Amino acid sequence: MTTVGFIGLGIMGGPMAANLADAGYDVIGYNRSQPAVDKLIQQGGRAAGSIAEAVREADVVVTMLPDSPDVAEVALGDDGVLANAKDNLLYIDCSTIRPETTRTVAEQAGAAGVRVVDAPVSGGEQGAIDGALSIMVGGSEADFAAASPVLNTVGKTVVHVGPAGAGQTVKAANQLIVAGTLELVAEAIVFLEAHGVDTEAALQVLSGGLAGNAILDRKGAAMLARQFTPGFRLELHHKDLGIVQAAARDAGVTIPLGSTVSQLVGSLVARGDGGLDHSALLKLVEELSGRATK
Ligand code: NAD
Repeated sequence: MTTVGFIGLGIMGGPMAANLADAGYDVIGYNRSQPAVDKLIQQGGRAAGSIAEAVREADVVVTMLPDSPDVAEVALGDDGVLANAKDNLLYIDCSTIRPETTRTVAEQAGAAGVRVVDAPVSGGEQGAIDGALSIMVGGSEADFAAASPVLNTVGKTVVHVGPAGAGQTVKAANQLIVAGTLELVAEAIVFLEAHGVDTEAALQVLSGGLAGNAILDRKGAAMLARQFTPGFRLELHHKDLGIVQAAARDAGVTIPLGSTVSQLVGSLVARGDGGLDHSALLKLVEELSGRATK
């Protein structure tokens, strides 16, 4: 039986770890706060009291952490993943972080005899619950092949996109498209409401045409109801748009719409809405139009 050390049992990591346990993996979970670990135990996993405990017995370690400094600390720290890895450990980082942090981790992992892939995911909380994530993988062909059984358990579309860090670059493009689309859906909703149109009917017909997209399908109803429980927190999307902007600058690429939506997301975070779902871009569009209701 393959033992998987899973570190970071939040909105995404919790259901991913549960799906691995359900599929027969021996999952040892560690999270900074205990309730997430208790939940994993109820779902068939085992508890670790530290990173070291989650890693020492593991054949595979998965991390699903918020940001680059978290991954750097957990992977490279004095009592972190590399420090406790058994020979030939396969380390899969599913967090969305800066490509350069991924490359640093990959270099140090290589020197420590640890195989590593970056495997950021898309598909949201529901995708994680359903085991239907889209996963963009960076690393060698051999390490991708080794990671595939685990990744295919938590995901539906698992694609090798290039060497270490390439997964993060593709994920940055994903976050650019998602933010821009959310903003346009938010603008369309406020526009339709201002015209007194039946918005449910409008979204239904828009979904069937060229304007159809996954944001409309998955978030449209909650946006109409002004339900902004995360989901994906604005503060995390703010982090991702920082990655997008830095990467675009590095490549000499201009992203005018990406920069605009980045500013709007930054504004929501600055005023204290960072804990809301990213679909709360709608609140700002309403306010900019003098139409705020709540
Ligand atoms: P989250 O905040 O819900 O989960 C992160 C978990 O990591 C928390 O439970 C936290 O306690 C734990 N943690 C933080 N630092 C830790 C440490 N040093 N040691 C142990 N545990 C630690 O975040 P999330 O929404 O699950 O997102 C995780 C990652 O996945 C982020 O990089 C995010 O950008 C990405 N992501 C999220 C979504 C989504 O819809 N939520 C979708 C795709 C990708």
